[in-house]
Amino acid sequence: LGYLKHIELENFKSYAGKFVIGPFKRFTSIVGSNGSGKSNLMDAISFVFADRIRHLRVKNIRDLIHGAHMGTPVAEKAHVRLVYVQEDGTEIDFYRGSSSEYRVNGVVMTSREYIAELAKIGVLAKTKNFLVYQGAVESIALKSPKERTQLFEEISRSSEVVEEYQQRQRE
Ligand code: ATP
Ligand code: MG
Repeated sequence: LGYLKHIELENFKSYAGKFVIGPFKRFTSIVGSNGSGKSNLMDAISFVFADRIRHLRVKNIRDLIHGAHMGTPVAEKAHVRLVYVQEDGTEIDFYRGSSSEYRVNGVVMTSREYIAELAKIGVLAKTKNFLVYQGAVESIALKSPKERTQLFEEISRSSEVVEEYQQRQRE
């Protein structure tokens, strides 16, 4: 499985100007006070992964521009750029601008081509705020509770310390 390395936001929702967030590791959590932009960051990921605009908590695409929710957009457009690291370590740079710009590794594309590039890494463009990899929903849903627990323990890496945990409990 790949992971996100950096996210660059420019004038996206509550992010005024340009921000580069990251580098992220394989497991990242985002913390912050209410209204600090956590969900907006998730919206940014959904945006660059070609999610539908109505899933991003705005009515139309221009509302994604910083200030637009108050009727005073600070710029002509907003964009999100994201660096995705594939399993073999190669990086892919995805870019989506609010004026229908799509680029992969700097190459300008139509939305259809862009979505096809996303599909290659298993991102389906119909998700809401979290990325469902092809086949993942079914396979997770079909697991037994025990297998599902194992999966979450793997993702959270708590499985790495389970032996030590059990050992200490016995002591
Ligand atoms: P919570 O913990 O309550 O879920 P959060 O960290 O998820 O908070 P967000 O929903 O990401 O918070 O951010 C909400 C803030 O983003 C609000 O203050 C809202 O006014 C601001 N916001 C949303 N759209 C825009 C925009 N286009 N321009 C400027 N600010 C915006
Ligand atoms: Mg939130």
